[in-house]
Amino acid sequence: MTDQYQNFSHSPLGQFVTKNLGLPQPPKLQRFERATPVLEGAVLFGAAANSIFVAGISQVLANIHANSYAGNNPKLQQLAARVGLNLGAFNIGDKESKFKALIFDASGIAQSQDLQQLYAFFQPLMRQVSASGRVVVVGLNPQQAKTVAQATAQRALQGFVKSLAKELKKGITAQLLYVDPDAEGNMESSLRFVLSPRSAYISGQVLYIQHDAQVQHMDWQQPLLGKTALVTGASRGIGAAIAQVLARDGAHVICLDIPAQQQDLQAIANQIKGSALALDISQANAGMQILAAAQSQGGLDIVVHNAGITRDKTLANMPQQAWDVVLDINLSAIERINHHLLSHQGLNAQARMVCISSISGIAGNMGQSNYATSKAGVIGLVEYTAPTLAQGMTINAVAPGFIETQMTATIPFAIREAGRRMNAMSQAGLPIDVAEAIAFFAQPASGGLNGNILRVCGQSILGA
Ligand code: NAD
Repeated sequence: MTDQYQNFSHSPLGQFVTKNLGLPQPPKLQRFERATPVLEGAVLFGAAANSIFVAGISQVLANIHANSYAGNNPKLQQLAARVGLNLGAFNIGDKESKFKALIFDASGIAQSQDLQQLYAFFQPLMRQVSASGRVVVVGLNPQQAKTVAQATAQRALQGFVKSLAKELKKGITAQLLYVDPDAEGNMESSLRFVLSPRSAYISGQVLYIQHDAQVQHMDWQQPLLGKTALVTGASRGIGAAIAQVLARDGAHVICLDIPAQQQDLQAIANQIKGSALALDISQANAGMQILAAAQSQGGLDIVVHNAGITRDKTLANMPQQAWDVVLDINLSAIERINHHLLSHQGLNAQARMVCISSISGIAGNMGQSNYATSKAGVIGLVEYTAPTLAQGMTINAVAPGFIETQMTATIPFAIREAGRRMNAMSQAGLPIDVAEAIAFFAQPASGGLNGNILRVCGQSILGA
């Protein structure tokens, strides 16, 4: 479904009208296209005194060949040079230069007074980030802090980043990466993702990165080569986009959907040279059937629980059947399938599971008590399964906001318009935005991400 308001706001008449009436002007977001580099433009790198991730960040900037600069910070330049990153000198106060990304290592911030260093680095630069630019703050997971003062100051970073995400317009995003002290070598997949156009509709988010000993040499062009993925609900909408993106990144994808969708399902599977599995995930033996289908493909490396339904009614008007079917398909079926896969060694080593939640599961939503319960349950499933998994396996969730699909096309016009505009980007996301986040969690290099809930919502005001 096209966003006619967005198209109108970019026409000469629309620009005039929206400006004069103070209406939102949704920016055109730069999205990933094949062969787009991670970053097109210069990066300014800064760090608080005594920060511990400078070498790790420098290594990633060197790996992606970023045109990188530092302000007046010879120590930072020296540390970066040790890993082969040449940080050009930037004269703070030069108002002409534009940056595609600002990266700040805030891990050295040990007490509230040190937060002043955020102001000192970012304040002069707020008007110098280019369209669809990126702001990334790297902090220390407050749970790992040594003192209350350090945990407090690190926790404060969230308010700062979420505010910048709201202030920076033009499709600029801001994210916070909390990294465990021993996880410096596990930042690369996250930094690449948040810096690149793949994260176009994600802003104001926090990712937690832990140590993963299994870091491997990665083919960043085809990170999923040789992997087998299962995507449920793959015949249309977000599921079809997930299947396409995982296949683009090299995976063989088993596309699953209900038998009634067989024709569309087969078309997607053919398009991406994957396979089709017509199956209702609410069937008691769904896990067994999935396992049987995966066996001829060498077992499962990636499982994406995307299939989901809505049956919206206020609780006062909701028939029991609408409650039961939503809870069963959106939550209980995932539990049953995971239980079967995990208890029958149905997942390969370093498997990646990704579940689709929703901001309704975070914020709750009028008329969606059944759906929001199921999607909050998905968050619980991810958070409480993560620490129980065998070493190397991960489970994460993506929580979409308002995404243009057949599911949201059925929402009444006024509510649909509100859903589209109530976020920092003043527009709905696209299925590809959710798919890119899933492909990022599915990468072998994302082993340090376990138990994360990543919102793909343009920083929706719901549940923020
Ligand atoms: P959609 O209705 O377009 O697609 C869902 C797919 O799941 C359909 O192909 C459907 O046939 C399949 N499916 C439903 N029940 C199934 C079952 N029992 N077994 C197998 N397949 C089944 O929906 P969408 O908008 O693409 O949503 C995909 C996921 O994203 C869902 O989990 C949804 O709750 C979630 N989500 C969507 C949005 C949004 O704005 N579109 C927002 C938040 C979360």
